[in-house]
Amino acid sequence: MIIFCFSLYAQDCVVDETKTPPFMVTDATGMGSKTYENFKSKDNYRRNQNIIPRRSIVKIKKGSEEYAKHSKSYVPVEIISTPDTDQLDKNLKNGIYKWSSADKNKLKKSKVGQKGFLYAKSLKKADEFTYIVNEASPLIADNGLSDQGVVAIKPIVDSKGNFKVLKCCNPLLIPKNSICKLKYQFSSIFADESVGKDILVDVDNCAVASGLTPFKNQDITPIMNILKTGFSEDKEMKMADIELFDAKGVVKIPLDYEKGDGKGYPGPFGSYHYNTDDKGASDVFAKPMASCVFTKVLETHNKSCKGPGCQVQFGDIYHPASFNVHTSHGGGNCFDVRPLKNKKSKRALTYNDSIYDKNKTVELMRLFEKAGANKIIFDDPSIKSPYIRRTSDQSHANHMHVCFDLNSKRTKETCKNGLKE
Ligand SMILES: [Zn+2]
Repeated sequence: MIIFCFSLYAQDCVVDETKTPPFMVTDATGMGSKTYENFKSKDNYRRNQNIIPRRSIVKIKKGSEEYAKHSKSYVPVEIISTPDTDQLDKNLKNGIYKWSSADKNKLKKSKVGQKGFLYAKSLKKADEFTYIVNEASPLIADNGLSDQGVVAIKPIVDSKGNFKVLKCCNPLLIPKNSICKLKYQFSSIFADESVGKDILVDVDNCAVASGLTPFKNQDITPIMNILKTGFSEDKEMKMADIELFDAKGVVKIPLDYEKGDGKGYPGPFGSYHYNTDDKGASDVFAKPMASCVFTKVLETHNKSCKGPGCQVQFGDIYHPASFNVHTSHGGGNCFDVRPLKNKKSKRALTYNDSIYDKNKTVELMRLFEKAGANKIIFDDPSIKSPYIRRTSDQSHANHMHVCFDLNSKRTKETCKNGLKE
């Protein structure tokens, strides 16, 4: 069977607007910290047939759009894309968040093209998200935007919530409106967040949205930059490597899970995550902006600090307050980092240790501060700086505790443009 994605006949097109979104993005209302929602059978909305990852894109069955507005109803939908959450679910299953993992559920993840029912409260409007696009997607080629560096698209909506569309009708058919199609207008977005030409998305004609991955509008800057900065110089970062734990609003510092040494894992730019809490590294989730800015510091440090002892070794980042351990790590904006060393070593050390390198450590703290850190605790009494605090109980003799102000201009600037040495 041949599917024509774009019409072969002349059409009359006019700019128009509509309240109906091009598609909806799924959530998991009432599912706690689970990474998925139940996907109900198309024959019986009471039966859980599969599970559907958060941030899947679904199209509502024509004529059923009204149901989506009634919070307690179940809405007939067709799945047009699901984010790749396999690595996230696998790691969650190996750690303290195992009951959040889709891999702990008996039901399998649903597939693109599948039809069924979804709880209305778990459907979010398309304009709450920006969509990272696969450059090989026909959407990019058919809009004449190949090789121009478009990384994301975003629906164009006015202040009243009307989506901008192009309404195209076949003038040869009578009545004329019998075969009108809506093409939704999206803005194209480049890696530096500048906006390019509009893109037309015809949701009905083909599964053009299958190459789109939605992220909440407020997360798109850090997510785009985490992807762009990459895992490290020698390993490219793929969309599937992004472990965004939606329920907690945190994303992991990328780690190389194939190269673990039993105690930790290599991180970006030659860094190392020590004393991992569990095999799934549940302790390196951070707020997207924190994850972004930390990665940028690692990138700059990797360029400026050369030789043995330069490796940044980081420990805990995020823990929910209910854990009652690492209580100052509930915000997802603080990092534990070991002091730097004068030789290659993966062992713990204090500022009294013979392998402690004060100059390197101070230089790294200066980078953190320049990047937007508003709190650094480290107990070396010989470091005199108004920015660095000490504890009375020597609890920070073997690591510095670094926190970023996620709303500061400086933090956002570092995430977006990197850290200039
Ligand atoms: Zn700490």
